[in-house]
Amino acid sequence: MKLVRAKDYQELSRLAAELIMAKLRPGAVLGLATGSTPIGAYEYLSKKCKAGEISFTGVKTINLDEYMGLNADAPQSYRRFMNENLFNNVDIDKAQTFVPDGMAPDVNAEAARYEALYDSLGRADLQLLGIGVNGHIGFNEPAEALSLATHAVTLTESTRIANSRDFNSLEEVPTHAITLGMGAIMKAEKIVLIASGENKRNAIQKTVSGRISCAVPASFLQLHPDVTIITDFDL
Ligand code: PGA
Repeated sequence: MKLVRAKDYQELSRLAAELIMAKLRPGAVLGLATGSTPIGAYEYLSKKCKAGEISFTGVKTINLDEYMGLNADAPQSYRRFMNENLFNNVDIDKAQTFVPDGMAPDVNAEAARYEALYDSLGRADLQLLGIGVNGHIGFNEPAEALSLATHAVTLTESTRIANSRDFNSLEEVPTHAITLGMGAIMKAEKIVLIASGENKRNAIQKTVSGRISCAVPASFLQLHPDVTIITDFDL
């Protein structure tokens, strides 16, 4: 694993965006993430594209996860987040951007559809990841066993509390989500994990600890041959 200490959030965002830019070409597949951490990188990419310095022509994207029970237009939906923070601002064909359908009537069928979709795209050239304070990646939450395939999850209390900042109250935070499993994440050619703020230190320390545990899903990244972790804090 390569550890990069950015001097601040702005530098972290630029470094992550540059790694993404290095993969842009027609036919590229980018695995993308939501959350507060990637916003700066998406802003940087949006600016570069508006300036005509980069292009998303022919690029396909597949997102990690989506809340269940929110439609695509809901302010907190990850589809809407991606549209507003990146897709609306760059020259990507939105029909080639994929996020699970949070309103699918049959969750297991949607998980199977999304898994097949991932496979049909081929592995991601780059997978961007944030990390939860509990070490989750995507919504692969700490558990006795982790799933390889795309699946429905019950969100942990700590994740719902962390994400309640986007909702009026904790009660409004969905209790379930669909997420790519560990298999799709680990298949990516390159993984870039970004963590901003001291509250992520403990999770990152466990991610690079030399121990692998389902209690810290990100710790499995130690088995991947090409992982870059960018933080804006000392470990
Ligand atoms: P954050 O979320 O970027 O909003 O901190 C990361 C995550 O939960 O994966």
